Amino acid sequence: MSGAASPIRSTEPVRNTIVAIDGPAGAGKSTLARHLARHFGLLNLETGAMYRAFALKALRAAIPLDDGRALERLSAETTIRLEPGEEENRVLLDGEDVTGFLRNPAVTDAASRVSIFPGVRAWMVGLQQKLGARGGIVMEGRDIGTVVFPQAPVKIFLDAAPEVRSQRRFEQLGQSGRAHAIEPQTGAPGDRSSPLEREEILRELHARDERDRNRADSPLRPAPDAVLLDSTGMTLEEAVRAAIAIVAAKLASLQPF
Ligand code: C5P
Repeated sequence: MSGAASPIRSTEPVRNTIVAIDGPAGAGKSTLARHLARHFGLLNLETGAMYRAFALKALRAAIPLDDGRALERLSAETTIRLEPGEEENRVLLDGEDVTGFLRNPAVTDAASRVSIFPGVRAWMVGLQQKLGARGGIVMEGRDIGTVVFPQAPVKIFLDAAPEVRSQRRFEQLGQSGRAHAIEPQTGAPGDRSSPLEREEILRELHARDERDRNRADSPLRPAPDAVLLDSTGMTLEEAVRAAIAIVAAKLASLQPF
């Protein structure tokens, strides 16, 4: 998407900057982050994909999702890498490209469950801080502006009404072919099975929201200095334009004159 002319004068602070985007599930963070990264020439890093990859490993290993100690032990023997791709990053779990398995509803649910454990979060936050240490990124998740990069110069908290978020998720899943397998041998990544119904999606979003907002460790909340962007009545284009304006204004205010 071609954005409006930005008031940025030098590219230096832009190249090194960190744009933190947080918000609940289905608010449109990934799409927004992708457009912002493209517009400002930054790398895009989806931290939810990392939690999903770890959850996939826990499911495959049949680790009980409420066993924090076992999950923490599992994290110690897990590597997760992100490689830039065309539309989204490729996610490498212990060297295996698992990108096609991460949208499975069981993986989505498991990611929400494993992410409540402080040991898992500490490991994940460390990885994310390493990945973003050089700046030049848009990082998207639940705790980026509050925990991973509290010093990020630009923070957006993207929200939308629950019905709008579940409707968007419904449309997205319809487009992407619904549920995917979690094991290579049980089907190709595009394997079609069990379409999610609208109410089911609303229930799932609500459950994930509750878990994210109420967990003891790094609950979902806007950083005090985050700009709140409510995309409830906006089209995708409008939300992207609003976000570009927020980032451009913030970066311009950081310029030495
Ligand atoms: O963003 P996405 O829906 O892919 O994230 C999957 C799950 O991972 C979320 O439901 C959330 O519980 C967890 N998560 C998190 N912290 C992040 C990113 C994701 O707890 N920074």
